[in-house]
Amino acid sequence: MTSEHPYTKLREYDRCVAGLMSDPEVTGDLLLIGMWLARATILNTPEPSKTGWQLTDMAAALFPMKTKPAMFSLGEWSRPQVTGPDAWHVFEVLKKDIRRYDPWVDQPGPRWARTLCAGPMVRRATCGKPSVAAGFLTDPETGRKKLRGGCRKHEQWFIAEVQANREACEAVEVPQPPANIGGRLAPHIRDIDWAALWRGIDPNWVIPPEVRTWERPSLRLLLAPDMASQPAPTAAPTRPRPKFALIPGALT
Ligand SMILES: [Zn+2]
Repeated sequence: MTSEHPYTKLREYDRCVAGLMSDPEVTGDLLLIGMWLARATILNTPEPSKTGWQLTDMAAALFPMKTKPAMFSLGEWSRPQVTGPDAWHVFEVLKKDIRRYDPWVDQPGPRWARTLCAGPMVRRATCGKPSVAAGFLTDPETGRKKLRGGCRKHEQWFIAEVQANREACEAVEVPQPPANIGGRLAPHIRDIDWAALWRGIDPNWVIPPEVRTWERPSLRLLLAPDMASQPAPTAAPTRPRPKFALIPGALT
């Protein structure tokens, strides 16, 4: 426990937990991980090691035993195997919550909706028949992607569209599109260096641009940080409190 008055910390913890519980986007195992991180970062429970907390610490508390079911092979049933804390599950849950741009989220219809032909027509704007070929076209000005398709009649038109889009994107420097998914724990658990964590999970990850609408009006702890103002990848950490350390080598 730190030298600060414990009630101050307890109140901060209460507010953080209330924020997590009231956020409809934080559910399931992500909520569990958020609760663990709230207790760790605010109440210092469990205490971190010198390098910070590890995925295995979290897995041991939240998903203590991974069980492999009994298998039938070579005429015999093997026993179900208990393999210990499932750190890879923690890894996967955090990976799904990486702040990023997902072109599927950017489409107006549901993901499973059929892509209709956008080929030009004389009497109406677009053809609208089911597509036989479809793919994402990139807006060269924003970097955002739009799903387009062509029916059998408009297949050549669609191929020409894809080619024209590729040339338009090669002619300019296409910006990175603004993030539209992930990062749901970051507004709640503020003492974690999320950018470093996400880069640890995905070495190719770079801080995506943001649009204002991501900031949701809510409790104090729900205020989303301006992701663009987070430290650059090469910047030294400035916060004095321990950071969440990702040690993939420790995973089993
Ligand atoms: Zn068509």
